[in-house]
Amino acid sequence: MKKTLYLKFLLAYLIFGIFGLVILATFVPSMTMEHLIRERANSLYSEATLIANTYARNLYNSKISLEAVKDQLDTLAVYLDSNVQIINPSGRMILDTDMPIDVENEVIIEAFDPTITGTSYYVIDNFFNFYPNEMLSVIAPITNNYMVKGYVAIHMDMASINESCNSLLTISYITLIILFLLSLIILIFFTEFVYLPLRRITYATEQYATGNMHYEFSLDSEDEMGYLAACLSYMASEIARSEDDQKKFVANVSHDFRSPLTSIQGYLEAMLDGTIPPQLHEKYLNIVLNETQRLTKLTNSLLTLNNLNTKGILLDITDFDINQVIRSTAASFEGTCLKKSIAIELILTDEVMYVTADMSKIQQVLYNLIDNAIKFSHHNSVIKVETTEKKNKIFVSVKDTGIGIPKEDLKLIWDRFYKSDLSRGKDKKGTGLGLSITKEIIHSHNEHINVISTPGEGSEFIFSLPRSEENDEED
Ligand code: ADP
Repeated sequence: MKKTLYLKFLLAYLIFGIFGLVILATFVPSMTMEHLIRERANSLYSEATLIANTYARNLYNSKISLEAVKDQLDTLAVYLDSNVQIINPSGRMILDTDMPIDVENEVIIEAFDPTITGTSYYVIDNFFNFYPNEMLSVIAPITNNYMVKGYVAIHMDMASINESCNSLLTISYITLIILFLLSLIILIFFTEFVYLPLRRITYATEQYATGNMHYEFSLDSEDEMGYLAACLSYMASEIARSEDDQKKFVANVSHDFRSPLTSIQGYLEAMLDGTIPPQLHEKYLNIVLNETQRLTKLTNSLLTLNNLNTKGILLDITDFDINQVIRSTAASFEGTCLKKSIAIELILTDEVMYVTADMSKIQQVLYNLIDNAIKFSHHNSVIKVETTEKKNKIFVSVKDTGIGIPKEDLKLIWDRFYKSDLSRGKDKKGTGLGLSITKEIIHSHNEHINVISTPGEGSEFIFSLPRSEENDEED
């Protein structure tokens, strides 16, 4: 893997961090500052209104002395961290919490204009040049008998608001850094549960792509990654198995073709160079003929198998009487049976039994099974072919009392070219393809075939077929 996925994820992570920082640095400070100013101005204005309606009004009504008001406002000013002033409409300073009361030296605010705040209730400037630096100022009128007597002004140094803003921003930056670090956990999870397994899967895929189908790997997880790995590994093992089968198949075919060809070549050469005298030619030509017949049989079987596999078998489904097919197939073995003194006993339920299947293919199945039964039976024995009916199925059984099949071979006999050791002596012409063709045909009908066998006692092959529904109704 070119590490791209990981890089992309890392990049996304970095972009997330940088964007977070940029947004925090550009928007958040102004927003925080704005919020802080509005909040402070709000509370200062409430205070100013309160003072205007209480202490200041009492002062103008001469209910309370200037000193007493100053004392009260001094405390309040410390509490509010600001400067409180009472100013006459003309701009004359009556009281300033930052200055002692000095009646001799009047302080006049030049060009004092209470409408300086405009439509808002606060203003940020140096308050008619009264302060050297910027202040947040609010002004509340002191009214008495519907007349404006003066103003309460409260000023807060913008430096202190800036300070609060900065400490709030520091908290935000720390939160962002913590968030960024915490999101590292996602990166770690991604690496551990997605990236690393994916790298192993990719490596395995590369191995399979280069033909190393036997490369084994597994992931210890039960999530989608684990499932993907299991599927991939299963797929590879299946391909490997089919490759092995293919090789075995070719090896078997070559072997089965080579032996008759070698013997044909041997006999023909011997006849040509005179090793076999002309009077014996007929005998050996018959052997050669036999071998060519075996080759033809082998070729036909291979072609049939190939057709069955590639086309998925095109079946010519009809309704036919299975009993009739059994009778005619059994009859075709009369000659062979006579030679071995073997009797075929037919135990057929009902006179006619209609099934829905491909007649010629089922005939081939019966032919293979009866042929095997005869081949592997002893002289003077009986082969039973029986039909039974159960539910909607017809079961056909071909039973012999021959050599039987060893337990360990029972699964293998359905494989192409498989011949059990027991049978080799008995059947030199066998190709080992008959049963695999038989199985393919029965499976293509969506039916089943089974074998029960005991070595030395005999074998029974049973397969099922669907009973014809149409002919049922007629019955
Ligand atoms: P073949 O053409 O060699 O008979 P099959 O595929 O029909 O090939 O059978 C495969 C093997 O299964 C045979 O070689 C034999 O070992 C075993 N087999 C099949 N039918 C019987 C049977 N009725 N009795 C004993 N062995 C059998």
